[in-house]
Amino acid sequence: MTSDAGDWLDQAHPDTLAVRAGIRRGPEGEHSEPIFTTSSYIFDSAADAAARFDGSRSANVYSRYTNPTVRAFEQRLAALEGADAAVGTASGMAAILSVCMTFLQSGDHVICSRDVFGSTVGLFQNYLNKFGISISFVGLRDLAGWSAAVTPNTRLLYCETPSNPLSEIADIAALGEIARAANARLVVDNCFCTPALQKPLALGAHVVIHSATKYLDGQGRVLGGAVVGTRDDMAQVNSFIRTCGPSLSPFNAWVAMKGLETLSLRMRAHCDNALALAQWLQQQAAVDRVHYAGLPEHPGHDLASRQQCGYGGVLSFEVIGGQGAAWRFIDATELMSLTANLGDAKTTIVHPATTTHGRLSDAQRAEAGIADGLIRIAVGLEHIDDLIADCQRGFDALA
Ligand SMILES: *Cc1c(COP(=O)(O)O)cnc(C)c1O
Repeated sequence: MTSDAGDWLDQAHPDTLAVRAGIRRGPEGEHSEPIFTTSSYIFDSAADAAARFDGSRSANVYSRYTNPTVRAFEQRLAALEGADAAVGTASGMAAILSVCMTFLQSGDHVICSRDVFGSTVGLFQNYLNKFGISISFVGLRDLAGWSAAVTPNTRLLYCETPSNPLSEIADIAALGEIARAANARLVVDNCFCTPALQKPLALGAHVVIHSATKYLDGQGRVLGGAVVGTRDDMAQVNSFIRTCGPSLSPFNAWVAMKGLETLSLRMRAHCDNALALAQWLQQQAAVDRVHYAGLPEHPGHDLASRQQCGYGGVLSFEVIGGQGAAWRFIDATELMSLTANLGDAKTTIVHPATTTHGRLSDAQRAEAGIADGLIRIAVGLEHIDDLIADCQRGFDALA
């Protein structure tokens, strides 16, 4: 008799959880998970309505609060991260905002790695600052810098690892200890690795952030996000979301949940393709440096080998000849999509200095290591020979 809950599920391998966790079948006996596109739910009686509202009966009331499809996605993702609970959000930024609104108040201080996602910097600098929350930016690998930045008001340490686009690696266990000593939480944006490659909670982080828009969906179809952590913490995050509204739509939850079923297969293929492309790029005369933690020369290689089980799909490299050469390379490629997105089956290529990092001053870009000749490729699932052939078109344009 088929059952999608039970002791076997608690002991199952992550690949099995990705396919089976969080399923709730309806009376029709559907095999694939249904989508519950409803804003509200009918109560059995006036007494039932009262019980659902006062919380003495836990059941659906309104889809800003809970929705069965969103819950299925949350349970599957929590199982993959090895967490008690997850909360779906409308986007990755909604997840980050929800964590900040839940755990910070006026007067608090945040320490953040310097090279996080641009909108994350914007949230901290342009919005949280308005409410008296201060922020210090430190280098991802500068552990002494993280310790030195701690103040009595520090409540959050925030990082992304591997970093974008240079593939720098944070020591999650060490940052978790600094956070614990400061009575603060370590929040890790696990967007680039996904739980298929890295489980920050097991390494010592308190909260994990996801943009489901990237690898969790994996095919560039929807926006979504999630916060993952302990049951108590997630109850607080959920309370913010149901009150303030950055809730995940059931359709987007369903797309991301179906994406999870193939996550580990896809991540393995992204890693294999990215490593092969990085090794090929390293041999090209027009390439100055390749940034990919899978290469033994990369400064984060040993740490990544310990805390990840794969190096991810994003790499960057510097072509000789600066911005002019980088633009000629990009414009000569035909297969790769010229777009700033990542985490897609389709390979994407972008020039960080004039797009994702274009708003930085020259000095800030230099400090962040974003050279004018730097090109980022988020390696997709096409055949490696076709990706190499496309890069060869780029190099031919430089000859
Ligand atoms: C895209 C991205 C986000 C934001 O996610 P959205 O779904 O676009 O809001 C946050 N962190 C990282 C690392 C990202 O790549």
